[in-house]
Amino acid sequence: MLVVMQAHATEAQVRAVCQKIESLGYRAHSIPGAERTAIGITGNQGEVEPGTLEEMSGVQEVIRVTKPYKLVSRDIKEENTVIRFAGSEATIGGPSLAILAGPCAIESRDQAFAIAERVQRAGAQFFRGGAYKPRTSPYSFQGLGEEGLRIMAEVRENFGLRTITEAIDHESLDLVEQYADIIQIGARNMQNYSLLRRAGRSKRPVMVKRGMSATLEEFLMAAEYVMSEGNYNVILCERGIRTFETYTRNTLDVSAIPIIKKLSHLPMTSDPSHGTGLRDKVPPMARASLAAGADALLIEVHHDPDNAFSDGAQSLFPDQFVKLMDELRMIAPAVGRKVA
Ligand code: PEP
Ligand code: MN
Repeated sequence: MLVVMQAHATEAQVRAVCQKIESLGYRAHSIPGAERTAIGITGNQGEVEPGTLEEMSGVQEVIRVTKPYKLVSRDIKEENTVIRFAGSEATIGGPSLAILAGPCAIESRDQAFAIAERVQRAGAQFFRGGAYKPRTSPYSFQGLGEEGLRIMAEVRENFGLRTITEAIDHESLDLVEQYADIIQIGARNMQNYSLLRRAGRSKRPVMVKRGMSATLEEFLMAAEYVMSEGNYNVILCERGIRTFETYTRNTLDVSAIPIIKKLSHLPMTSDPSHGTGLRDKVPPMARASLAAGADALLIEVHHDPDNAFSDGAQSLFPDQFVKLMDELRMIAPAVGRKVA
């Protein structure tokens, strides 16, 4: 159920409706929009009796939401969600294309600084890098852990970049939220519902990456888990799905971008690095993603990819990243975007 407030409804009226909903044993999610506030009701098994709510002052109408996802849907909020960061001009979901670039994994302070310097100069606003790596083999490099997070915090300090890094479980999430600006939930954890709920109780924005065999509905439901706990700063990311094709590491589902943008108000990211696995395929798919409506791009860049601890084959050389940024600047105006 969704309570749509009148355009001129007061804060007190919104509060009263939320209190009423909670007194009925449900959870109220007040989502302000440009025109009006909508209040999502969750925690109900069946239908909520709309009678009492409809009568309350400031209420325009009570709508039954038939889709399984509610808080992520454009039904509750028509306009795009824009994620902002204190003390920074950077946004995700606004008119500017957000660029999140950096290595697959944080390997050392020198490595992180060398790459951060290059991506910042080329125009990225966010630095990515894994401190906890979910690897297919238990014998592969697992990340530097908290030491990696400390290096990311230093990058943030020195280059003014906001940071994004993955949490793979509750323990790492406790640390990631202390050090980083955005918590990444990886493809392998997209259906780890207890981790999604934990991220939903964090104050930090959360990026949810699409599971490699997840339908778009399952993907949106993962974001719904985070929002249902009260964290409304969620970013979605298409990173390629498993198909029968083996030429590429995954098949980047570019069509997911306009579909998600239609269904949801949340910002949509594309990750052509994991989406293709092939360095020379990253720039064309990044350009296609911008043209298809992506709000942000997640790009792996390494200053010495041949010696990278992970994902070297899909990491751009810094010079390639600079060239890609120039191309994105040319495409952006054609699709109503800006690139810093
Ligand atoms: C990553 O972004 O570092 C990563 C591991 O991606 P994914 O979860 O999409 O495989
Ligand atoms: Mn990677």
